[in-house]
Amino acid sequence: MIDRETLRWNGWGWRAHKEPAEDAPALWSYLAETLGCGALPLEGPAELDERAFPPSRLTEDAREAFARAAPLTEAPGPRAFAARGRSYRDLLDLRALHFQPAPDAVVSPRTSAAVQAVIDAARDHDIAVVPFGGGTSVVGGVTPLDGWKQAVIALDTTRLTGILAIDRISMTATLQAGLYGPLLEQRLQEQGLTLGHFPQSFEFSTLGGWIAARGAGQQSNRYGKAEAWLVSARLATPSGPWATEGFPASAAGPRLTDLVAGSEGTLGLITDATVRVREKAKARDYRAWVFKGFEEGADVIRRIVQAGIPVSTLRLSDADETFFYGKLSRLVGGVKLKHRVEDVYLAFRGLSGSKCALIAGTEGDLDLVAYARNRMSEIAAASGGMPAGEGPALKWFAGRFHGPYLRDPMLDRGLGVDTLETAASWTDLMKVYHAVRRALAGAMATQATPSGSRGIVLAHISHSYPGGASLYFTYVWRRAADREAAITQWEAIKRAAGDAIAASGGTISHHHGIGTDHAPWMAGEKGPQGMSALRALKHALDPTGIMNPGKLGL
Ligand SMILES: Cc1cc2nc3c(=O)[nH]c(=O)nc-3n(C[C@H](O)[C@H](O)[C@H](O)COP(=O)(O)OP(=O)(O)OC[C@H]3O[C@@H](n4cnc5c(N)ncnc54)[C@H](O)[C@@H]3O)c2cc1C
Repeated sequence: MIDRETLRWNGWGWRAHKEPAEDAPALWSYLAETLGCGALPLEGPAELDERAFPPSRLTEDAREAFARAAPLTEAPGPRAFAARGRSYRDLLDLRALHFQPAPDAVVSPRTSAAVQAVIDAARDHDIAVVPFGGGTSVVGGVTPLDGWKQAVIALDTTRLTGILAIDRISMTATLQAGLYGPLLEQRLQEQGLTLGHFPQSFEFSTLGGWIAARGAGQQSNRYGKAEAWLVSARLATPSGPWATEGFPASAAGPRLTDLVAGSEGTLGLITDATVRVREKAKARDYRAWVFKGFEEGADVIRRIVQAGIPVSTLRLSDADETFFYGKLSRLVGGVKLKHRVEDVYLAFRGLSGSKCALIAGTEGDLDLVAYARNRMSEIAAASGGMPAGEGPALKWFAGRFHGPYLRDPMLDRGLGVDTLETAASWTDLMKVYHAVRRALAGAMATQATPSGSRGIVLAHISHSYPGGASLYFTYVWRRAADREAAITQWEAIKRAAGDAIAASGGTISHHHGIGTDHAPWMAGEKGPQGMSALRALKHALDPTGIMNPGKLGL
């Protein structure tokens, strides 16, 4: 369990982290110039002030009922931490001390039985329950919503940290849902095993959150998305405990475990789950390639995946992202001799300016890694890819959880920065890519202040399948100073991108989930029958609608 006092309640990660970009004035000048918005102001977030909190609305009866089941707090610190997730939109609220709504209390059970008792008490007192793991949702998944129930608690899972069983014969582990990534992996790796789920938020997110949001780790090509490694789950629901089937295969009707992945706390709280584990990798090979264009690189990914080559990571940045991260590294770390040599060589190969970098990784046993590396290299080279060696790939690997720390100093300097992701078939992928880029650039040009300034759009492919791939966009603009105006601006940009995704054939989310932010596009994807089936399922497990009300469009 992480002591939340050591984490930023209104930003990313460890309080003690010192972000090198803070001391890189060249970076901020570069961004101001590229965005065309003049010098950037410097203004940090407001300090936590308990007067900003609405008073807890729990009745004495309800408070006692919860406290009988589990430790409960109504103190501002824990309520502030659980008030929002960690999206750009959430940070606008947290930085401005906008806690309306906030959870009335945070309840932290230590056992599955205590979780059920808390949910029973919430049902009996008609109080909403927001399951809260690491709180790293980026879609409004943990924001308590007003208007559903007279009070709301955050049900903190992070005291549920047990390893309940390891079955080395069937290669499964049964783990409690509140385990944060590092402790979960440490406990498995001590036994020579791994789950292999490494999202960028790995250090601060939990097993239950990974399943509930149907997430994807950076090595998803090898280990799979949450729904792929989830074998079965046990939930505490308002209508009682529910355990889903755990067979390796079955024809006994639809697989109900699939309904748990992506349920976002709307059906019940996942207390523990049985997951597929693998032997810890004995070897690893990460190397970079450079392509002339995004389409050429994407085609190489498609061919590698369709050939069934056992890769773990294929991450292709478009030309703008490749350029931006190269620039960032020089502006923050300084221009080194190797950069100059690199520039000369790339110019010689005709690749300066519009190159796209691919990080290709494989892990497993030695033979498998050697085979995958050779086969990938053949395909990449045959498509005009230029090998860029292990250096850039190992650098990416070492820093793969650090990127989000850049967001807080960007917000401090009046910038808006957000990410979104989608997935589409190979047939539609480039159509979606261009449509979303256009929509984001257009909306940012209309919305950014001062008018006339423009946005930056970066994109990459990071998860791929025989039938298609995901696209991940990062976009930066000069945000409005006032919180409400900044939210209006963000909503317009988000709407433009979401509509472009829907119109061009993408899903509204590949791995972030729906929460509230993506709810407007949910019915369009599922259809009216699909939505009523989901509502009926929720009603069966949660008849009075206390579990994370308003999320998933339910
Ligand atoms: C900087 C950053 C990087 C990210 N990178 C990735 C990435 O690479 N891949 C990826 O997939 N996601 C990523 N995310 C999104 C987020 O980390 C994931 O959605 C993650 O799975 C959430 O886990 P959590 O424990 O923080 O869940 P929370 O944020 O606490 O909750 C997420 C949702 O699940 C529900 N929930 C949580 N625990 C339970 C439970 N035990 N039972 C039932 N419902 C529950 C919540 O109510 C909520 O709806 C990133 C987020 C940030 C801020």
